Amino acid sequence: MTALAAALLLTAPAQAELLALTGANVVDIEGKAPVRDAVVVIDGETIKAIGPAASTPVPSGARVIPLNGKWLIPGLMNMHVHLALNLPGATRVYNESRESIALRMLDNAQKSLRSGVTTIRLTGAQDGIDFTVKKMIDSGVFDGPRIHTAGSSIVATGGHGSTEVNGAAEFSQAVREQIKRGATWIKLGISGGISDTHGDIAGSPFTDDELKTAIEVAHRNGVKVMGHNGSPIAAATAIDAGIDGFEHGYFLTPPVLTRMKEKGIWLVPTIVVSQKGARAFYQKIGSPDWYLDRVDSVGKGHWAMLQNAIRIGTPIALGSDQYPWEPNEGTTATIREAELYAEAGMTPLQALRAATIEPARMLGVDKQVGALRPGYLADIVAVDGDPTADIRALRTISLVMKGGKVIVAPAE
Ligand SMILES: [Zn+2]
Repeated sequence: MTALAAALLLTAPAQAELLALTGANVVDIEGKAPVRDAVVVIDGETIKAIGPAASTPVPSGARVIPLNGKWLIPGLMNMHVHLALNLPGATRVYNESRESIALRMLDNAQKSLRSGVTTIRLTGAQDGIDFTVKKMIDSGVFDGPRIHTAGSSIVATGGHGSTEVNGAAEFSQAVREQIKRGATWIKLGISGGISDTHGDIAGSPFTDDELKTAIEVAHRNGVKVMGHNGSPIAAATAIDAGIDGFEHGYFLTPPVLTRMKEKGIWLVPTIVVSQKGARAFYQKIGSPDWYLDRVDSVGKGHWAMLQNAIRIGTPIALGSDQYPWEPNEGTTATIREAELYAEAGMTPLQALRAATIEPARMLGVDKQVGALRPGYLADIVAVDGDPTADIRALRTISLVMKGGKVIVAPAE
């Protein structure tokens, strides 16, 4: 046993508590009828049984949490998260210490979990601090969401990301280094970002050789690759090179979105960052005018792209690019992102799936999380109404549970 595995055993919560959630309706993520007036039995970390109260006994000795009339859904999943955002603006921190970054990341992870987001994917962090935060949460020292991380994002010099390399050899080394540290995804900045002051957001600065090599090396290690991308030209090259998903996709065209559907390439839209709800956030952090203008000009194309992707059926997993808990139009960035999917053409069930089982499928963990079924981890959120009838029901989260542990308890 490794030292880390031993440490995990020592610090993992020892009590295997038996819990029963009663009186709620359990949403079926496949769109079948909900289980009404259900009993959900949770044994330790996992769901043991779900069924109607009439035929599902509450085990003796179980702690009962009454949730009469609530609706239960899987914990939300947010696939584009930076826990230590540092955007252009008055609040930008220069030369921030590693300790400060670590504390901000932990704080944002905890706030994310309390807002109902039980799994996140980190899409670019600094100095390997993300791996430490993940370990501290996984070992039970701190509460926080389940973390999948890409480590530091890799780019060609001048690109949108932190680890700058050039040529196939340096790319393969950079990919291997992130995987060695613990990355379960690789993020490549294959086109420019909204916050960049240089380069063409619609350009394609990687050479074919760099892109192919980076993706090949990741895949040889069993790791998937996402491309930060808004450019149809960069998209075409990356699809040929075997990429697994695109982030943002600002200006992706219907032909690109159609090829993505055919090849099962994921889109993580982060639509919330370019729409009007984010303005209050950018103003709060004191973003400069050029940045606000750039967001506005990207926003319209981004919205049209999202509508096209939904119409075409490109696989979509929810990601916000803002803190999952960040206030946005009276709710959180995660929930607003899901609402925007519905406003752009998804059914409420599709929007809920994009926030739960679809990210689980993208991560390859859809047999553990993303649905409420016996044998799945008890990552459970309660809301007041049926989100498959109206996705805005997500605004009424009253219970958050991760792995059978109650993180936010409903008011008495
Ligand atoms: Zn991002």
